Amino acid sequence: MIEDGGVVIDGEEIVAVGKRSDLQRDYPEASFKDAAGKVIMPGMINTHMHLYSTFARGMDLKTEQAPKNFTEILEKLWWRLDKALNEDDIYYSALYAILDGIKKGITTIFDHHASFGQIDGSLDIIAAAVEQAGIRANLAFEVSDRHGPEKAQAALRENERFIKKLQHQKNELKNLQKKAGKKQKKKNGEGKMTYLGGTIGLHASFTLEDETLERAAALADELGVPFHIHTAEGRADLEDSKKRGYRGVVDRLDQFNIWRPGTLAIHGVYLQEEELLILKERSSCLVHNPESNMGNAVGAAPVKNALDRGVEVGLGTDGYTADIFESIKVANLLQKHKLKDPRAGWEEVYRMAFINNREIAGRFFQQELGVLKPGAAADLIIINYSPPTPVNAKNAYSHLLFGVEGSMVETTVVGGRILMENREVKNFDYERICSKVREQARDFWRRF
Ligand SMILES: [Zn+2]
Repeated sequence: MIEDGGVVIDGEEIVAVGKRSDLQRDYPEASFKDAAGKVIMPGMINTHMHLYSTFARGMDLKTEQAPKNFTEILEKLWWRLDKALNEDDIYYSALYAILDGIKKGITTIFDHHASFGQIDGSLDIIAAAVEQAGIRANLAFEVSDRHGPEKAQAALRENERFIKKLQHQKNELKNLQKKAGKKQKKKNGEGKMTYLGGTIGLHASFTLEDETLERAAALADELGVPFHIHTAEGRADLEDSKKRGYRGVVDRLDQFNIWRPGTLAIHGVYLQEEELLILKERSSCLVHNPESNMGNAVGAAPVKNALDRGVEVGLGTDGYTADIFESIKVANLLQKHKLKDPRAGWEEVYRMAFINNREIAGRFFQQELGVLKPGAAADLIIINYSPPTPVNAKNAYSHLLFGVEGSMVETTVVGGRILMENREVKNFDYERICSKVREQARDFWRRF
């Protein structure tokens, strides 16, 4: 923590962090934005999100009885919703959720998408919203056999098409930069950063047949990318793996080579001890989503056990909220509640939200994210927080956990570009977009 500190940005990168007076002396020509006593900190990272879930808020499920367990929540809500999404629904759902995230200080999102009525090109639609809004996102389409093998293959192809397109663009850019580099040196940190990435999405073991998993693993080998998959979220997933003759979900997926460096296992509520060790051995990560788990009444993930066994555990929101500050509060409470230990949660939440999320994101984007230091991406937020007690390096986390919420974020910067300033979203007429999103939602609800 630096009192009266500042950050110097050049292009897309941070070039210096220190005392404001020192920075102004060392960079007299830099334009100056006064954060006026507010908190400058790294932008927040969400390692599991569903941008497509926007229209579920307030929606009538048109069913006689409310879903009584997690499988029914999937069948009566999410699988019906995703199948009914058209191109405009996908775009406006994503755009709203991204802007909502910007308003709450989210600068990087790992999205897990489903739209089985509109598979081809769906990731491009989300990518367009991501690029227009200016954040960083890693996208994946959740492959599943739940609507039959043809749809599963089409979903696999959508991941392949999107990832190959990104890889091609990256190579083209590299070649262009090589040519340009010979003529003139580029300015420090300009145009070299990654904002979009792709991973192969898989829904969950219990909706994936062996053949689909085999094809997915072959594609991952070919493209050199890992997976993003819901893992042992509900009891049904564990029971399905046992029925197929495996010890658990991680055990089954391990037979298909799904666990590889960087694969994101989401939830892990029903993971057994030895399965945590498999994740650790394969250098795969676990992502905890406390509010979603509580909302679906599936239980609480073994976060402490996983961290103690060396698994890299990140923190996501699973579409439940865009506000990761809200998630850290709930994660802290859930661990205490589950373990009946007031000491639980504190350290684990810090590691998930402020260390592991940035390490996970850093690997995917091949760039230092979520940290204020020279050379890191200029992804930062300014928070309007007037603490009732003194803030110091030792208690700063306590203030973030108990005092700060997403709506206090005033300014959001990604790659040096100001996406929100003084709570005003840039590049968009926010109220007009919200009104358009509501109009689209009304239309979607009629079709649902
Ligand atoms: Zn999810």
